[in-house]
Amino acid sequence: MKKIQMVDLQSQYQKIKDVVNTSIEEVLNSSAYINGPYVKEFQADLEKYLNVKHVIPCANGTDALQIAMMGLGLNPGDEVITVDFTFAATVEVIGLLQLTPVLVDVELDTFNINIEALKKAITPKTKAIVPVHLFGQCANMEAILEIAKEHNLYVIEDNAQAIGANYTFADGTIKKAGTIGHVGTTSFFPSKNLGCYGDGGAIFTNDDELAHTLRGIVNHGMYKRYYHDVVGVNSRLDSIQAAVLKAKLPNLDAYCESRRKAAEFYSNAFKNNENIITPVISDFTTHVFHQYTLRITNGKRDALHKHLLDNNIPNAIYYPVPLHAQKAYKDDRYNEEDFKVTNQLIDEVISLPMHTELDTEQQEFISQTVLDFLN
Ligand SMILES: *Cc1c(COP(=O)(O)O)cnc(C)c1O
Repeated sequence: MKKIQMVDLQSQYQKIKDVVNTSIEEVLNSSAYINGPYVKEFQADLEKYLNVKHVIPCANGTDALQIAMMGLGLNPGDEVITVDFTFAATVEVIGLLQLTPVLVDVELDTFNINIEALKKAITPKTKAIVPVHLFGQCANMEAILEIAKEHNLYVIEDNAQAIGANYTFADGTIKKAGTIGHVGTTSFFPSKNLGCYGDGGAIFTNDDELAHTLRGIVNHGMYKRYYHDVVGVNSRLDSIQAAVLKAKLPNLDAYCESRRKAAEFYSNAFKNNENIITPVISDFTTHVFHQYTLRITNGKRDALHKHLLDNNIPNAIYYPVPLHAQKAYKDDRYNEEDFKVTNQLIDEVISLPMHTELDTEQQEFISQTVLDFLN
């Protein structure tokens, strides 16, 4: 059996090596390392794929979130609501910009933002909501947009984990994850569903004016060379990463499909075990399985984690500590009662190997090892 990995980037690379190597070589020969033609080409390809007017490439997914918030003109003291159960980058940029993070609980079944908790958290100071499409499926965007409209709030989608997912509105309209709110952000970190071979990120919007503002912010606040109208940052997608991404983008839908198939295999294997809850997918979204995350309900999650490692099956706890309990983000405003679900999830969740190159032999071994241990 091929060695099991949490993410197998090497096997994936071997299949696209020729096109990727040729593209990278082109960049090397052109010596246009920054803002070369591949950056523009990838940007245009991604705009087309997402059916969005503007893609603004940048250096990583964390910058993308920060720049989006800067572009919306959020000011220190403005409250920004996001989830307690996500990767820290989401809340980190809120803190960095001296905005006030307001963390809310998630849903037990989908791990995404709890709409009632969101409603409860709104105050006159609230300026924006940052839903995270966690593990690869969309949050309830229609409900979020409605609340945002009612309270005049911006919606910034943290789409680092769900690029390629489709969201279906009640009227049948379908949009790509990340293009539904005022602005969306993503990460091209190597292990993400569309990963480059270094760091990369992007911001999406259909708003022409905001896109113009964001393009200046990513480039030192310059709208005309050496004229700095606003305080910006230096956040670029380099040409080599753009070349890799341009080569990989045509495979994104097939990659999502491989992940979905792998998830189906696991869920089928686990469906009759009463101690395992397999991923629940909301009916308004597809799931692109950035992670395949189980809930283990008999208190043996930690023991399972160790047992799998002992059997050379990598696995991970995403996430082991709720953000409201992290040293950097603790606050007296928070009440443990308001984070019941996140506090439960951190004890129950376990993510199994999930990537585009899993084979049946590996998946059989992984699921059998899980089942043997829990039975
Ligand atoms: C990966 C990730 C980010 C940050 O992306 P980087 O490119 O690593 O900066 C932000 N939010 C979520 C939910 C992520 O998973």
